Amino acid sequence: MKLSTSFLAALILAFSSSSIAQNHTSLDAHAHGVAKLAIALEKNNKISIDLEMPGDSAVGFEHAPKTPAEIAAKKNAEDTFKEKFSELITFPENAKCVWGNPKIEVNDEAKGHSDWDVQIVTVCQMALEGQSVSVNFGKYFASIDKLEVSVIGQDFQKKVTLKKGSGSLSLTR
Ligand SMILES: [Zn+2]
Repeated sequence: MKLSTSFLAALILAFSSSSIAQNHTSLDAHAHGVAKLAIALEKNNKISIDLEMPGDSAVGFEHAPKTPAEIAAKKNAEDTFKEKFSELITFPENAKCVWGNPKIEVNDEAKGHSDWDVQIVTVCQMALEGQSVSVNFGKYFASIDKLEVSVIGQDFQKKVTLKKGSGSLSLTR
């Protein structure tokens, strides 16, 4: 009797942990298709950018890459962030923004849901507050359904949602 009770307990535990892993509404899980972008206007025309997106939107899977195709997909996404951030977020040409190297972290691949976190800084030749910006994540990341953008200025903060990860927004209150 004891044996079957503990067997049953193990079965319940196995079942509930697998259902948690598949349940995107659990507390710390992300929503697939939803990416978050923070654009912070700092002093001296410096802009700090922080992008968070589910692995599903970055590469189409969330486990650690295993197959050659998965390894290539991960490298491709990393290369996009390293080489094309000026296409993902396009500031006015006359601002002559120079992009730094991104810091790319991929977290929790072992847990069944992974998150990509990309931080990058750009320094421009003029103040960007009041300017408009073109955002084009949808061009490279087709499975973004919505991009939740926070703009943080010196004395204001606002949120904008861009469908499919692309659109334009103004850096004003
Ligand atoms: Zn996920």
